[in-house]
This record gives sequence, structure tokens and C-alpha cells, in this order.
Amino acid sequence: MTRRRIACLLLFLTTVKALAQLNELQGLNALQDVSLSDLSQQDDNPLAKVALALHPDDWKHAEGEHFIYHYVRSFVATRAAVEAEFNFRVVAKELEKEEPGSGHKSHIYFFDRPEDWQEFQKAGHLEPWTGGIQSAGSLFLLRDPAHKFSGHTLGHEIAHLIVYRLYGGNIPCWVNEGFAEYVSRNSRASYQRARGYLAKPHSTSLAPEELMPLDRLMELTYPPSEKVEDFYDECERLVRFLARTDHARFLTFFALMSGKETFDNALTHVYAGVFASRSDFNDKFREYASKDYGTTLQDQP
Ligand SMILES: [Zn+2]
Repeated sequence: MTRRRIACLLLFLTTVKALAQLNELQGLNALQDVSLSDLSQQDDNPLAKVALALHPDDWKHAEGEHFIYHYVRSFVATRAAVEAEFNFRVVAKELEKEEPGSGHKSHIYFFDRPEDWQEFQKAGHLEPWTGGIQSAGSLFLLRDPAHKFSGHTLGHEIAHLIVYRLYGGNIPCWVNEGFAEYVSRNSRASYQRARGYLAKPHSTSLAPEELMPLDRLMELTYPPSEKVEDFYDECERLVRFLARTDHARFLTFFALMSGKETFDNALTHVYAGVFASRSDFNDKFREYASKDYGTTLQDQP
């Protein structure tokens, strides 16, 4: 059998397996409306009260396997819930956590109407890239049925939710955003494959002169208002580089960084023998970040 045929066969088998998983997920996540007071866990997030007060009679509520959903239209929420549970599994697998949160369910609010969302945004802190708000373990998103989510928005925000649940809120901005981008791009490609599309995770290479110096990037506590796309791309590349270099070490590194360790200490402690020094790391990362610049790099999962 030729290499090409073997590759085609492997791709076919992967797609069949992913389709079976997706069908299973859809079966598991058929949403059933319940009243707010009947939910197994209530949300004490102050933003939840703001959201539900916008049009209290229209909100519906349902429980999924890992999340509690609040929504206006059932068909919008059902599709989103399938995607949310799929993303949950991909993020949990990446972090090598079987059941992150052990029974705790995060709340997700799907806004259908842009005018409600605009009103709500005044109360929350909108993430400029994704258009979602992850706040203290709850997630708020505009899901306009006419526009759907852009690409990997839901996966990105779900990654934040799980990271918050497992590691708390002290993780540096670049690690948090880079991981959310990295894992959600992988998840998006898996989800598309499960629906029968050919897709590989997309990672964007950057021109060397576009790279923000790492010291500056790592100081930021919030995505910058200028060149925000480059910021997310560089953080994604950085996390991808660390994770692909050695995944087991990356998980240790991730835990240390969420405990307020400095990057230099975590790098020295975890990646000893891999990078000779901080400047060795910087050089290798710059080379990796700009690899294949000018072409669309289709990275392997
Ligand atoms: Zn984010």
C-alpha cells in the first residue's frame, strides 16, 4: 500500500471515529428546559444577575453534562451545547484531566439579540478578539443565529473557563490567551473533521519584525488595544512551541505559571536540558514563530 493510500485510510478512520463521537455527544446533549430554581447549581456571579434581568421572561435554562446553559431559543442553544461539550473534552484531554472541576458546572449564557448584548457589554469586560466575556468562571456570549460564532470563539472561551476552574485566576495573560488560542484552534479543526470536513489546526507564523519582544509580551495583563491579532497569534505560537517541545514538561510549566512563578524560573526548572538559557529559548522561539512566514502554515494536530 502506498504512503498516500495509508494516509487516506488513516484520515478516513479518524473521521469515522470523530463522527461517532459527535453523534454520541449530540445524543447526550439534547437540551431539556428546566426552571431557573430547579437547576442543580445556581450562579452567584454578579454579571449573571445583570444578564438575566435584561429580559427575565425570555430566558430558558437547561443542564448539560458539564455546563449549565441559559438561552432564549432552544435550537441555538442545542447546537452551541454540542460544540461546548466537544470543546470541553478537547481541553480536558490537552490538560490531561479526566474530569476537571469534579461535578462543578460552569454557567454559559447565550445572547441571541445584539441589542441585549450591547446593553450587557456595558456591565462586563469584553474580550476584544473573541467577543465573549469570561468572568469569574461564567461565560457570556453573543450567538446571533444569523452570524453564528466566528471560528473558534466558543472553544477559546471554554478553555478560559476550564483553566479558571482548575488553576484559578492568577495565570499570566500570555499563557492564558496563548493556551486558549492553541487548544481552540485544535478543537475547531477536530470538530470540523467530525462533521466531515477536511481540516487541520491553523497556526499563524509572524514576520520577525512583527514579533513583540517577549519581555514586553509577558508583562501585559490584558490584550493590547493595538495589533491585538498579532498579540493572540504570538501567544498562540509561544504556547504551541512550549507544548510541542515536550507536552509533559509543558503541563508542569503551566501549573507553575498559574502559581505566580516567574517565566525565567519556570523555564529553568522545567525545561532544563532542553534550552541552554533564556537567550537560547528566545532564539529558538523566534525561529519557530517566523517559520514558513509568507505561506499559510498548516500545522499538524
Ligand atoms: Zn481569551
